[in-house]
Amino acid sequence: NTPILQVENLSKHFDVQTGLLRREKKTVKAVTGLNFDINVGETLALVGESGCGKTTTTRLLLRLQTPTAGQVRYDGEDIFQLKGAALKSYRSRVQAVFQDPWSSINPRVRIHDFVSEPLIVNEKLSSSEVDRRVHEALDAVGMRPQDARKFPHEFSGGQRQRIAIASAIVSRPRLIILDEPVSGLDVSIRSQIINLFKDLQAEYGLSYILVAHDLATTRYLADRVAVMYLGQIIEQGPVDDVFDAPAHPYTEALLSAALSADPTEARTEIPMNGEVPSPLNPPSGCAFHPRCHRRLGAVCDVKSPTLQAYGPHHSVSCHLHDRQPTA
Ligand code: SF4
Repeated sequence: NTPILQVENLSKHFDVQTGLLRREKKTVKAVTGLNFDINVGETLALVGESGCGKTTTTRLLLRLQTPTAGQVRYDGEDIFQLKGAALKSYRSRVQAVFQDPWSSINPRVRIHDFVSEPLIVNEKLSSSEVDRRVHEALDAVGMRPQDARKFPHEFSGGQRQRIAIASAIVSRPRLIILDEPVSGLDVSIRSQIINLFKDLQAEYGLSYILVAHDLATTRYLADRVAVMYLGQIIEQGPVDDVFDAPAHPYTEALLSAALSADPTEARTEIPMNGEVPSPLNPPSGCAFHPRCHRRLGAVCDVKSPTLQAYGPHHSVSCHLHDRQPTA
């Protein structure tokens, strides 16, 4: 396994003013101490409820934010130290597909100009080479070269997502961040787009970071999964191991909610008490303890668990497994 990206102790904390008169300063720990690798040709999924730190993580990886601490290495180089041509190369090689990329696009921009933008910004190519690459990318996602002359409103939601994917692959990236890439689509076309991601991965050896609420999509696309809660990874491992035998009570509850909603599964939902706590005021000890159905007692309330090995490639952060020998 060759890592394309290595995330080491990555943290992003913000100071915010709170209180009635906004005179109280507090620190929001958006993400803390993240560690994970992404290998060539592999898909890693980040899952968790809103506010768990997935968005901050992807913004850090796209270099849209700088970390408070830690490193992200791309081919061994710290991305936050990259400048000039090396930074442009990183921006070409690491792309993103968002849930609704068209919401911020001028509707009068032609498809050609939208798809070619990463080439124009990051690479110096002749206009004929740009045209050739745009046509090649449209062809790869099942669109026609003549679609390049059209406008966004001439396409369906599924076609527009194909065009967004063409824009992400036009610069021949190695890693694409898929941020809720099928959430805005009709259920009937989601599987087509998910299969397109699989086909492109097989053809170009792409690595993906998938951010998705939908655990069925996650299971189908991902090789490994990192479960996040209040800015930390609380369980990580091969997707089948984690989904078939979750070690963390939070993962167990998330999966039970998804499976109990599936009429083919006879599962009972495990209740989680209350909402995700505010990151301005995180609970002491294990951050999940106020909602946990397996809470052990005082140890959970006062002592933070640390991520430890649970299986050969599976790790978990929970006092239930403190003395469990590594399998
Ligand atoms: Fe639940 Fe305790 Fe494990 Fe936290 S450490 S998830 S409170 S059992």
